[in-house]
Amino acid sequence: MTFAASVLTLYPKMFPGPLGHALAGRALERGTWSLEVCNIRDAATDRHRTVDDTPAGGGVGMVLKPDVLARAIDTISPADDPRPRLLMSPRGEPLTQKLVREFAQAPGLVIVCGRFEGVDERVIEGRGLREISIGDFILSGGEPAAICLLDAVVRLLPGVMGKTESGEHESFETGLLEHPHYTRPREWEGRRIPDVLLSGNHAAIDDWRRNRAEELTRQRRPDLWAEYVKRRTVEGE
Ligand code: SAH
Repeated sequence: MTFAASVLTLYPKMFPGPLGHALAGRALERGTWSLEVCNIRDAATDRHRTVDDTPAGGGVGMVLKPDVLARAIDTISPADDPRPRLLMSPRGEPLTQKLVREFAQAPGLVIVCGRFEGVDERVIEGRGLREISIGDFILSGGEPAAICLLDAVVRLLPGVMGKTESGEHESFETGLLEHPHYTRPREWEGRRIPDVLLSGNHAAIDDWRRNRAEELTRQRRPDLWAEYVKRRTVEGE
């Protein structure tokens, strides 16, 4: 079954962009997923095709108009559309691998890319938009965020990754950051591949990788480490 993605944007030419290349691009060509891009401006009705207006209550910037955005949403996502409707938004739920896995189970996604100061709150409520953030920083628009989200989701669709297990050891899937990688040559600029990796001893290699993953997580991501330790304690009981 094709995973049906619909994106609403004021910059349709930004798509498929990176999603037209490599893994996601090949999956798009094969029909594993489809991408419909809708220009929000096409839903404007006035002569100037206005999509934004000044914020009620004053202040800087402009706000995407609710009537225009809702009309755009309604043309591609009827009320009984089973796909989750998302709004890329810095104040949304943080995007995690857990959420990505959840979205990959859906029949598809409808993704609204904000611009300007954001969108009118009433359309978020009225069309049940789930706000998703890709991190604690501000982009100039939702498009790069939508591309990140779709890239992460598409690689999990059945048949997209070469080996099915190749997703399982990635950072976050195990709750740990990933161990370091090496490839030939055995020595490069005086740096050697750790001996254990060349030993052929798979139990020792697994141990080394887990230890390195734990060490990295402890150093770089105390938040993930605390979660990991907590879970390990519970599982060990
Ligand atoms: N005034 C807003 C920022 C608007 S940025 C605020 O202070 O919260 C313009 C648009 O870019 C947003 O509507 C959203 O769609 C997108 N965007 C910006 N940063 C984002 C992030 N971290 N994650 C997801 N979308 C983001």
